Amino acid sequence: MGLCYFETLWRMSNNHRIVEWSINDGIFDVFLRTLMSRHSGAADPLGEVAHTFHDNLVYWRVLYAFHKKHHHEIPMLRPLAKQFPVLNNLVIAYEERSIVLQAARNEWTEMRQRCSYHQCQHHTEGTLLRQCSCRGAWYCSLNCQRKHWGEWHHKRCAAMDANNHGKTTPRDLHFIALLCVTHLRKNKDSILADILALDPSHRHLLSIGVNLQSPTIMHMVGIFQDRVPEETWLGMIYASWREGGEERTAPMQRAINLDDWEEKVELPL
Ligand SMILES: [Zn+2]
Ligand SMILES: [Zn+2]
Repeated sequence: MGLCYFETLWRMSNNHRIVEWSINDGIFDVFLRTLMSRHSGAADPLGEVAHTFHDNLVYWRVLYAFHKKHHHEIPMLRPLAKQFPVLNNLVIAYEERSIVLQAARNEWTEMRQRCSYHQCQHHTEGTLLRQCSCRGAWYCSLNCQRKHWGEWHHKRCAAMDANNHGKTTPRDLHFIALLCVTHLRKNKDSILADILALDPSHRHLLSIGVNLQSPTIMHMVGIFQDRVPEETWLGMIYASWREGGEERTAPMQRAINLDDWEEKVELPL
C-alpha cells in the first residue's frame, strides 16, 4: 500500500480505524523505506503521513496496533530519528503515550465489572452483561440502567451525540483522560508552580488544558471561575486533540484537588 493511497483513504474517511488497519498492514514500514530513500525525486507525502500517524496516536486502538507491531524496533529507530525530525516526532509521541496503554486496559476492565449507576456500583468478577449502546456504561440490572439514564447518563451518552459520528468513543475518552492525568502527575511540580503564580490566594477554580496535538504533550493553566470559599480548590482538566483532522476540546470529567493534589477517580462517562 502506497503512502499517497493511505493519505487519500484517511482524508476521505477521517476515521481512525483506517489508520489502525493500515498500521496492521505495514504502512509504517513503507513510511520508513520512503524516508530512507528521500532523494528519489518522487512527491514527498511524508510530512502529511507523519501528521496523520501522530494525530491518531491519542486513540488507544491506533497506539496499540503500532505498539504490537513496532515496539521492538523503537530502540533501533532512536538514532535514525535524530536525523529525521518527522520520525523523531513520532518516536517522542509514541514513547510518551504508550506508557499509559497497560494502565488504561486494566482500568477499563475494572470499569466493565462495576455497575455504572453510582448509587449501586455492584461489582462482579466477570464483565457486566448489560451494556449501553455507547459501549461506555455497564449495569447489573435494567433498573440501574434506567435510573442512571434518567439522572445522569442521557446527558453524557455518546450514542446520543449527533456530532460525534462514532469517532471518539467513550473508551477513547477514557484513554485520553488517562494520558492527561499521567502527564499532569509527571509534571506536578512545574504545574503547581504555574498554578500558585496564577492564583496565589486560592480564590479561583482553575482550568488545566492538556494539549495532545503536538509530539510532546503540553499543558496550560487558566482561571475557570471564582471559587466559593467552602468549596474545594479544584483544577478541571480539559484535553485537546485532533479528531478526523480537526481540533476537538473536551472536559475530561476528572479534576485535581489542588489543596492536596489528589486526583479524583471520577470516570469520563
Ligand atoms: Zn447496579
Ligand atoms: Zn450510553
